Amino acid sequence: MRFCVKCGKDVEKTLDGLCTECYLDGRQFTSLPHHVDLEVCAVCGEYYLGGKWVPSSKKNAVEDFAFENVTVLNGNRIKCLESFSEEQDPRTFLATVISEVSIEGAEVESEASTIVRVKNTVCKRCSRIQGSYYESILQVRSEERALDEDTMEQVVNMVMSYVDQQSRINRQYFISKVEKMHGGVDFYISSIALGRTIAKIVSDKYSGENKESAKLVGRTPDGQDMYRITYLVRLPEFKAGDVVLWNNKHYKLVRVFGTGGRIISIKDFKEITVRRSDMSALKVYRKKSELGNATVISGGPPEIQVLHPSNYSAVDLRVPEGAIIGETVKVVDIDGSMYYVP
Ligand SMILES: [Zn+2]
Ligand SMILES: [Zn+2]
Repeated sequence: MRFCVKCGKDVEKTLDGLCTECYLDGRQFTSLPHHVDLEVCAVCGEYYLGGKWVPSSKKNAVEDFAFENVTVLNGNRIKCLESFSEEQDPRTFLATVISEVSIEGAEVESEASTIVRVKNTVCKRCSRIQGSYYESILQVRSEERALDEDTMEQVVNMVMSYVDQQSRINRQYFISKVEKMHGGVDFYISSIALGRTIAKIVSDKYSGENKESAKLVGRTPDGQDMYRITYLVRLPEFKAGDVVLWNNKHYKLVRVFGTGGRIISIKDFKEITVRRSDMSALKVYRKKSELGNATVISGGPPEIQVLHPSNYSAVDLRVPEGAIIGETVKVVDIDGSMYYVP
């Protein structure tokens, strides 16, 4: 049997000659430096915590950062019980952390304080964006002379919202520049993987052709070749709603999807699926915007009478079963005859 040199109590085991209570009494188990510097990105406002840039409120960032810097002097297994801070000026905080430390089988609370100084800097991502950093370029062009404004806007919105969503998961994903040029649009993209994914999304959406080329731009510090990849997506002339030629027959292009398209015959209203690899054989006969509008005079499925849009004669048109006929219908002329466009 041993005894505590301070309180004289008989105990089985002593620590530095003391019983557990006397050993723990008044002792510091954690410490913090006099001050610590917390980095904040002056551009995006994120804080550098736990070795990465994260969004946070200033108060939470200050308190989390103080806890991150706590050193356990004696004992182990530390848990933050409470942390609080007091603003001295907008860039200086007095932060206190109460931690739980496990020592010799006992759980003890320990308090430590520090001055947290908030320092402005620019995170790696923001400095790359500011420097127009890119590893790949996506060029979107059209088979036609130029990409029309509507499609261009649609592509830009689709790409930007996809990247915005992805950048929340991976901070290294961003677009540093969007440039409308040569009848198309160029995107300067932060990574090769992201460029490849976006090129596929855009070409799938429109059933476009996708080509890539690599250019050697230098060497990495460890001697690896460094490439910049250019993805060229050429969008076809056809769009959903156009009347197209397929195997010398006329169809309306109903929709385009990643694995091909769906077309409906102008003459017998039968629908066919066209595989992606065969989509390039579709040729535009009349664009959607060039189709005629004919006023309906009478009738309902399977046949209606309309006024010819140019000479105003009455024309009979076959329409599919179940078609809902409004006041006007879309029509197309093929070899001198007029047809209803389903
Ligand atoms: Zn004692
Ligand atoms: Zn930033």
